[in-house]
Amino acid sequence: MPEGDTVLQTAARLHAALAGRVLTHADLRVPRFATADLSGRTVLDVTARGKHLLTRVEGGLTLHSHLRMDGAWRIYAPGERWRGGPGHQIRAVLANTDRTAVGYRLPVLELLRTSEESKAVGHLGPDLLGPDWNPGLAVERLLAAPDRPLGEALLDQRNLAGIGNVYKCELCFLARVTPWLPVCALPDGTLPRLVALAHRLLDANRERPTRTTTIRAERRPRPDPSAPVPGKRPLPPLRVQEPLYVYGRGGRPCLRCGTPIRKIDQEDRPTYWCPACQSGPTP
Ligand SMILES: [Zn+2]
Repeated sequence: MPEGDTVLQTAARLHAALAGRVLTHADLRVPRFATADLSGRTVLDVTARGKHLLTRVEGGLTLHSHLRMDGAWRIYAPGERWRGGPGHQIRAVLANTDRTAVGYRLPVLELLRTSEESKAVGHLGPDLLGPDWNPGLAVERLLAAPDRPLGEALLDQRNLAGIGNVYKCELCFLARVTPWLPVCALPDGTLPRLVALAHRLLDANRERPTRTTTIRAERRPRPDPSAPVPGKRPLPPLRVQEPLYVYGRGGRPCLRCGTPIRKIDQEDRPTYWCPACQSGPTP
């Protein structure tokens, strides 16, 4: 699922391709807006708000899209083959003389008045990558439902906007608690530190091609993970720097302690954790 940093990269690519140029062709392939014609209008800017993409167009209009689980915007040069998926998955085409942006499998695509964007995104909590990032407000919102499992609270975009399932799992690992621990049960001071860490991780990844949460290990020499830990069996040597601690690593050894990483669903989303490094309830 696209996370805040991916959406931000998409917004930056769309902005570079479209902003300041006149649309020579625009095609919205959703019934409600199929007759709306944006061609002849200049694209003013493309920006991300949480995981929402806002393409603002001359004349006070905003094309709002959301990538949800597997949506994508691809950008093509004239004559280049479109490779984002079969034609029936195309929801939007925005073209100028140099570039064509094609939106695939967009579950949300709507045309709004720019003055009414807040109807679409106003429910979002402070945006981790937005200019108005407000960590204090994010902590306050997370604490508003103190009994909620941390993993669910971090994913709720009304608390803070930008965390997807990958970061949810990684942040819980870094906080050394399970995603099922109620927010109020976090040790003192952990929540503000976790919120600050979320911001640092997303910010550090906004321009990286591969999302990584283990980057701190690159700065500081890490103990050899293959060295035997007392009481644990020795680990096979790591061949590559692992970009993530737990996400997608079910059954493989924890990078810290070697215990096999576990995987189970939380709110229908695959959730990974180390049963030795992370304390708290589990299903
Ligand atoms: Zn571990």
